[in-house]
Amino acid sequence: MRRISIFGATGSIGQNTIDLIARDRDAYQVVALSGGRNIACLARDALRLNAVVAVTAHEDLLEDLRAALAGSNVEAAAGEAALTEAASRPADWVMSAIVGAAGLPPGLAALEQGATLALANKETLVAAGPLVMQAARDSGSTILPVDSEHSAVFQALVGEDLAAVERVVLTASGGAFRDRPLKTLHSATPAEAATHPNWDMGQRITIDSASMFNKALEVIEAREYFGLDPNQIEVLIHPESTIHALVGFNDGAMMAHLGAPDMRHAIGYALHWPDRRALPVARLDLAKLGQLTFSAPDTARYPALDLARQVMQRGGLAGAAFNAAKERALDGFIAGRIGFMQMAEVVGEVLDRLDARSGHIDAAFSLDNILQMDHLARSEADNVMARRQQ
Ligand code: NAD
Ligand code: MG
Repeated sequence: MRRISIFGATGSIGQNTIDLIARDRDAYQVVALSGGRNIACLARDALRLNAVVAVTAHEDLLEDLRAALAGSNVEAAAGEAALTEAASRPADWVMSAIVGAAGLPPGLAALEQGATLALANKETLVAAGPLVMQAARDSGSTILPVDSEHSAVFQALVGEDLAAVERVVLTASGGAFRDRPLKTLHSATPAEAATHPNWDMGQRITIDSASMFNKALEVIEAREYFGLDPNQIEVLIHPESTIHALVGFNDGAMMAHLGAPDMRHAIGYALHWPDRRALPVARLDLAKLGQLTFSAPDTARYPALDLARQVMQRGGLAGAAFNAAKERALDGFIAGRIGFMQMAEVVGEVLDRLDARSGHIDAAFSLDNILQMDHLARSEADNVMARRQQ
């Protein structure tokens, strides 16, 4: 039996992972499941999958979790340290599907104990790419991308020589506001931003799709994971979300990965890798689709894409700063403190401020420095937003 843990089990990726595992119950032994405030969901899945331990990120909910698991053998635990402890329990395959930088410490712990890490949490590579890739090399563990675009690139590269890759094209739907007049975007609401034309995902990543902060993170993620030059990575608007990514080779060929917009494909590919197994996802009917369309992204509409370029140019801990500032700006937008287009302004300002205090962004790549930068960028973002509100 394969030993499996799922961090962020109550979220969109986590639930899709559980859907696949529950179909083949006898093949897996579930070690750890983690969640946040949705104790009912966490306890229900821990009980039905007979997990060894269930962890909520919130210490104030430990008693609720204990009560929900009473009478079973499932251990209850809570808090950040408990998450990392659960991630260091031996497992063969660990899904990293917590949202945000909070996913980094458990992901790193899973790599250090030698588990294969199925990585949905893109923030891990954005904030700590070199550290995480090195941890995988040190322990001999494998990281498998679960973001649909990166899974697509990974699949297009099977049997290929990375040296023959000229470019990687990540597609983007353009999000909720692709066709909305640019001058009305300042008044866009969180509820409007949290609808996606094609994918059903968590609230935060859906809003990040409307602003293309999600694609900005993915560009950096691709650079870190595949070791590409920033100028080898392109973004292409593709409203149908049918092609997930393309790889262009030095002989002019392009390999495209197509599939229905269902994350169970990328999750299932990582679960069964290096094999390909049948998955319960819809099959494409291209004749019915009729046509696929493409366009270049407009940088005035999607300023986050330029910020990603800046981050890659700055290097060092700029990714950690970028991700943290983005998370706070997104909190600010959701709370109604700043407008939709101000998110990119806030993040840009934070990056400039931190760069001016050089030494921070250039600091060495240790978990401590990354977490410190994360903290610093969050408080800078709060300062920038507070000043804007005055
Ligand atoms: P979600 O919001 O649906 O779920 C997030 C999960 O993380 C939940 O289990 C929640 O309880 C937990 N969580 C939230 N904050 C936490 C914290 N501070 N500490 C510990 N746990 C916490 O998110 P999602 O859409 O499933 O996305 C998860 C990750 O996967 C994100 O990094 C996202 O960018 C990435 N991703 C998601 C999709 C998708 O289709 N949903 C696609 C590609 C990549
Ligand atoms: Mg993606």
